Amino acid sequence: MPDSTAPSFFVSYSHHDADWRAALFDRCIATTSGDCLVWSDAQLRAGDAWCPQIEAQLAACSVAVLLVSPNFLASSFIRERELPLILARAAAGTLRIVWIPIALDRDTLPGSPLFRRNLLFYRDTALVTMPVAIATQSAIASFFPPSVVRRIGVEGPAVSGHFGYVESPTNAPVRNVVAVLPGSDPKLRGQYVAIGAHADHVGIIGDPVDHDSIRAFNAVARPRGADDPPPRQVTDSQWILIRALIDSLHRAHGGPRLDSIANGADDDGSGTVLALEIAEAFAKGKRRPARSLLFVWHAAEEQGLYGAQYFSDHPTVSRDSIVAQINMDQMGRGGAEDAPPDGLNSMVVLGARRLSSELGRIADSVNGQPRYQFHMDRSFDQPGDPSHGWCRSDHYMYARYGIPVLFFVSAVWYIDYHMVSDEPQYINYPRLAKVGNYIHDVTAQVANLPHRPVVDGARPDPRGACIQ
Ligand SMILES: [Zn+2]
Repeated sequence: MPDSTAPSFFVSYSHHDADWRAALFDRCIATTSGDCLVWSDAQLRAGDAWCPQIEAQLAACSVAVLLVSPNFLASSFIRERELPLILARAAAGTLRIVWIPIALDRDTLPGSPLFRRNLLFYRDTALVTMPVAIATQSAIASFFPPSVVRRIGVEGPAVSGHFGYVESPTNAPVRNVVAVLPGSDPKLRGQYVAIGAHADHVGIIGDPVDHDSIRAFNAVARPRGADDPPPRQVTDSQWILIRALIDSLHRAHGGPRLDSIANGADDDGSGTVLALEIAEAFAKGKRRPARSLLFVWHAAEEQGLYGAQYFSDHPTVSRDSIVAQINMDQMGRGGAEDAPPDGLNSMVVLGARRLSSELGRIADSVNGQPRYQFHMDRSFDQPGDPSHGWCRSDHYMYARYGIPVLFFVSAVWYIDYHMVSDEPQYINYPRLAKVGNYIHDVTAQVANLPHRPVVDGARPDPRGACIQ
């Protein structure tokens, strides 16, 4: 983004959050010349009096700096009018954009729900092709001091700025953990079947919360945990149920138990321990598989698949020698206590036939054994599925390079998803063991296949945006 100077005018709106009002001056900002600076807020509704002004500005400008509130997708105006306009003009090359979601300082912490929601959005949409910088309210306040701010429709003084960034190492560096079990066939051991899971989770949530209150509330009003937005309304009868549940849990546990650590026992402690178990089973087995096995415990999946992205960009074996990748995420839930939407003994599978129909057939034939017979739920693999599961875990970073993948999820959601209550006492261990045996057997089949799984599906663009 070049330096730019432009006259500006400001459009006012009111925000529901007092902190935000103070931080963002109650104003929408748009310039009148070829460059524009636009503030869009989640409270906007298509049809609001000044939406046409924003649209007109965006239609006329050639370079835009967009300041958006982090929950901007709640706005029907942004979703239905502004975003399509921006994306179309950006795709046509007639508008250059820097997209800056503004977050309260506390909300920019990696792992905060707002930060994550933003990351997922940019990763999963065409916006990934635009420069995006998340700015804190204090940074924005210094760019736009009150002296340059005006009321709705009033032209303000010129503003100028420079957009750039500095790369600096993170405070908490992490590593992928990689292990190889050499194959037994001299001709095939130069090829690898990769098995992966992610070793990170979402960290510390901030203010401690009561473990049992979270579970009681979610059981009644937020069944998918953090995958459900916080409910706007909880009815009186729901509150009665929630309070009764909390009381009984507190009685059983001797009162509230405060916690601020999101342990991630299922997400993805379960996948990481299964990878260890599978490695041990193969290492101790009578006969090693023909191909070598490549185990990767990925870092920073929750931050945006960074560990898997790094490994697939810089693999420790030649990328072409990886014949398939099997990813495991959330493998320990989905028993009766979680009331899985697709029934007991169901398992979610994604990607099974996207790159290699042969790999999908192998997974199905192993599942045909009497001891497995999972009901494979493929609904999350459908193109355009709103859960964006295909783009949301490490396997995608392999698939984008044309490596066939299988992505298994034992429970896509449950009340403890991304909550402090994702703890090991809620893992269904018999189910986890069954799932682990199944993935072990699928791995063995692929590793012993005389030829590498045939790639007959469309290869994604490794540098493009992920398309569900
Ligand atoms: Zn996960």
